[in-house]
Amino acid sequence: MNVLIINAGSSSLKYQLMDPETGAVSAKGLCERIYIDGRLTHNANGKKIVKDIPMPTHSEAIQAVLSALVDPDNGVISSMKEIDAVGHRVVHGGESFASSVLITDQVMQAVEDCTPLAPLHNPANIIGIEACRAVLGHDVPQAAVFDTAFHQTMPEHAYLYSIPYEYYENDKIRRYGFHGTSHRYVSLRAAEILGRDPAELKVVSCHLGNGSSLAAIDGGRCVDTSMGFTPLVGLPMGTRAGDMDVGVVEFIANKYDMTISEAVNLLNKESGMLGLSGVSSDFRDLEQAAEKDHHRATVALEIFEYRVRKMIAEYAAAMGGVDVVVFTAGVGENAPETRAHILQGLGFMGITCDPEKNNCRGKEQIISQDGAPVTVMVVPTNEELMIAQDTMELVLDQE
Ligand code: AMP
Repeated sequence: MNVLIINAGSSSLKYQLMDPETGAVSAKGLCERIYIDGRLTHNANGKKIVKDIPMPTHSEAIQAVLSALVDPDNGVISSMKEIDAVGHRVVHGGESFASSVLITDQVMQAVEDCTPLAPLHNPANIIGIEACRAVLGHDVPQAAVFDTAFHQTMPEHAYLYSIPYEYYENDKIRRYGFHGTSHRYVSLRAAEILGRDPAELKVVSCHLGNGSSLAAIDGGRCVDTSMGFTPLVGLPMGTRAGDMDVGVVEFIANKYDMTISEAVNLLNKESGMLGLSGVSSDFRDLEQAAEKDHHRATVALEIFEYRVRKMIAEYAAAMGGVDVVVFTAGVGENAPETRAHILQGLGFMGITCDPEKNNCRGKEQIISQDGAPVTVMVVPTNEELMIAQDTMELVLDQE
């Protein structure tokens, strides 16, 4: 089976053509500068092709992707008929979706209804789905895989905010959490690697990248996660502040004559590692600066590590124990020193780090000491594989 995986952003669109049974990716790429001019970067058959193609809307971008896939010289399929299904990453499913679904008109309406919860992301996802329908026709099944769905199993005490209850009842203001597809993939894969049933395991999943979040997964069900109503909260991230006193928003807005949107934008785009260090939002740059004793870069990394460490312990407490800690995403997979610093001091709860095993990047690896009560491991995330597998299962169930 060939599943086309689409991750549509407001002015960009990432894609992969994957066989969900083997995970083999025959082509992948990126459309950028949609609505501006348009550029396609297409990787297939060991070659990378970059082409400027007018993309006044997402439809032309999808059209460019399909043309590249069937291109007689560099294509990977001979006709669009070889695309069996399309799987879309959709950011926000609100409380309407606790799992992936095949897209119908009702689903489209429900995704549209979630737009106030993700005003920047859901419209782009909807446009991506509509563009695929327009270009491929309604006969090719399409599925929506939500970033929020995995977290829908959280209990009330984890997802409700302590604000007047009417705001939850009337406006659905609550913790939703994001990165759900990644947390689900790495927790399942960790159980698979260990030869254990996910239903038996208490897992703390650490998705540490430009955006970062932790999830507590008890018996395969998410019971808590660190992102909230928006992805702004929880850990400090590349440019996002993470948890902080919201009174600061009012203080900054008043003092610097900013609107609330401007102040929140500062917390989203100019804070986190970038704001603290003044160097960069990129962890590689921070590590380099810290090596040269740049104080603010060093402190930024220390704050990040301290907050992840505290949250691992918090989530172990939330579950009444922990069997597995998993690291994933750009930093979690590739930054051994940051992992080692995070794990320092957690020995009291059976969490250890073997320096030799931890000296690895981008591969599946157990990094805890032999015989330690808690298994700590690195599992590279693969959200696309989850999207492709969910799509395949939904299509096969329907047949
Ligand atoms: P992601 O959002 O998952 O793509 O992760 C991006 C982050 O991972 C960036 O801050 C990168 O600096 C970081 N990253 C990627 N490779 C490395 C590496 N080898 N060492 C440290 N950080 C890395």
